[in-house]
Amino acid sequence: MSVNNEYRNFPMVPRVVFGKGSFNQLSSILDLKREGNGPFIFLVDDAFDKNSSVVKRIELKYNDKLLFVSAEEEPKTSQVDAIVKDILEEFDKLPSGIIGIGGGSVMDLAKAVSLMLTNKGGAADYQGWDLIKTKSIYHVGIPTISGTGAEVSRTCVLSGPVRKLGINSDYTTFDQVVLDPLLLDGVPKNQWFYTGMDCFIHCVESLEGTFLNDFSQSYGEKAYDLCLEVFLEENDFTEEEKRGKLMMASWHGGMSIAYSQVGVAHAMSYGLGFVLGTKHGIGNCIVFNYLEDYYPEGVAIFKKMVAKHQVDIPTGLCSDLTEEQMETMINVALSLEPLWENALGKEWKSIMTREKLRSMYIKM
Ligand code: NAD
Ligand code: ZN
Repeated sequence: MSVNNEYRNFPMVPRVVFGKGSFNQLSSILDLKREGNGPFIFLVDDAFDKNSSVVKRIELKYNDKLLFVSAEEEPKTSQVDAIVKDILEEFDKLPSGIIGIGGGSVMDLAKAVSLMLTNKGGAADYQGWDLIKTKSIYHVGIPTISGTGAEVSRTCVLSGPVRKLGINSDYTTFDQVVLDPLLLDGVPKNQWFYTGMDCFIHCVESLEGTFLNDFSQSYGEKAYDLCLEVFLEENDFTEEEKRGKLMMASWHGGMSIAYSQVGVAHAMSYGLGFVLGTKHGIGNCIVFNYLEDYYPEGVAIFKKMVAKHQVDIPTGLCSDLTEEQMETMINVALSLEPLWENALGKEWKSIMTREKLRSMYIKM
């Protein structure tokens, strides 16, 4: 048997608590992780105002700090750098930890801040694979909307000056995750659907991809079935039960792509996101709507879900793009080589030419 590093050695979240009301345990979890007088910094989605029950339950002790962050735009490398600079200026000691409470945007921001507190330079220097060399500080992810799988992944997706790309590293993964289905209460319906479909699309792209293996398949099939229970099937589950199911679908979907990859929808959605600022969940839906040639069964089910929940999927986004915008969009999408290889195989470059991709974008 050959001894090489053919198989990747992936990090997983080492600690997770699941259950309704488990958010109340946060303080006791953090007490064990406090380092001297290093504060805990809570990055909280500003969808929660300061009188919300979520914020009221965050116990600030000693010099702990709570920062509200907007998820209106997806996180940027400049935003990460600014938060890191402020923290380093305000405190004479590294924080004990960073706690991200929100959707994929806020969780990714928390991951990136925790990495950049211990790694020199700017966040844009580390967009890519395994460029981070120093362990991050302790960081905790607490999702308040489900689907991205950001709570389990080893990446944090950032828009930078030249690319939209994650900081993928073994140190990116959270040290602790708190999964409390009650935190999903209040998510607007359209957003619930778009982010939930991110999970469904993770499953389809993983299960239909050439990188599929038993590890990814086992998680992907479970997540796929949970998505059907939440979004399609007629059943007796309460809304509250469905929140727990969606939370676990997101987790399993994230685990599935960890050991495989996403595909066409994600590659194209990154292009839309970079050029037009289209957010990840809705961008995936916009693209996936047109991918029946690549994922016939998945797209057919997706369309049934859209009809069932009467959600609006925007169209016509790319009809008025300038030539420069279109070229950039194509460049960003095609730069995501592993995604194309997973979707279309090793010879993908002869299948997904620039002209082919342009003809697909123009329809969207
Ligand atoms: P989001 O974090 O952008 O949030 C979407 C909206 O929902 C925001 O307006 C937010 O304020 C609101 N919201 C969140 N929780 C709420 C609640 N409980 N009640 C009311 N409103 C609430 O959405 P998302 O789809 O979870 O995340 C998208 C981001 O995740 C993108 O930046 C994308 O790049 C990233 N992403 C990361 C990974 C990863 O593995 N790291 C994977 C997929 C996507
Ligand atoms: Zn995704």
